[in-house]
Amino acid sequence: MAFIQQLLIASNNQGKIKEYQVLLEGLSMGVTWPVKEGIQEQPEETGVTFEENALIKARFFARLAPSCWVIGDDSGLEVDALGGEPGVRSARYAGPDASEADRNRLLLSKLQGVPWKRRTARFVCVIALVRPGGAESTFTGVCNGNIAFEPKGGVGFGYDPVFYAPELGKTFGELDLAIKNRLSHRGLAGTKLIEALSRLA
Ligand code: IMP
Repeated sequence: MAFIQQLLIASNNQGKIKEYQVLLEGLSMGVTWPVKEGIQEQPEETGVTFEENALIKARFFARLAPSCWVIGDDSGLEVDALGGEPGVRSARYAGPDASEADRNRLLLSKLQGVPWKRRTARFVCVIALVRPGGAESTFTGVCNGNIAFEPKGGVGFGYDPVFYAPELGKTFGELDLAIKNRLSHRGLAGTKLIEALSRLA
């Protein structure tokens, strides 16, 4: 089916793209992302807040694909016992060449000896929407949980195996994507986005 309007996800992170494909399923817009459109450039994430970085990404790709509706997603994990780290640096925690497993190992090592009740954390997601013509809006979702003592589950991406959702008694790494989307930071911000898109598009 050919869609009149295209929504470009300003990310090539396959984990995020998969989640948005499920989240945005019912929308009467085509969903695409930079590499799929042959766009190789990447913006530098110089912001100090999730909102600033989400806007940087959305504006960058809106300039390259001006006929698209563009969403920038900036998200990350804030761990209370680490003063909110890794926060906006979640993707770069443990260095530029580190793997997801390296980042989870580093996080768990920094929390060694920290008891369960002090292992509180939250995932935060800000979605910035830039419409054709340049109008901008942002949507925020927050999901509270705990950092597990060890990684569990092979589903999802990033910090999913170490993020424990108390409501479900499981880590995000053990959840089906549809269930994760129902309570995750991205799912909550995405619901607000979908409501706005249904009104505006
Ligand atoms: P960004 O591309 O700068 O927004 O990077 C966000 C980083 O935060 C990702 O690379 C992951 O490490 C982490 N992150 C964000 N959302 C999630 C999630 O839903 N699950 C697991 N990790 C996430």
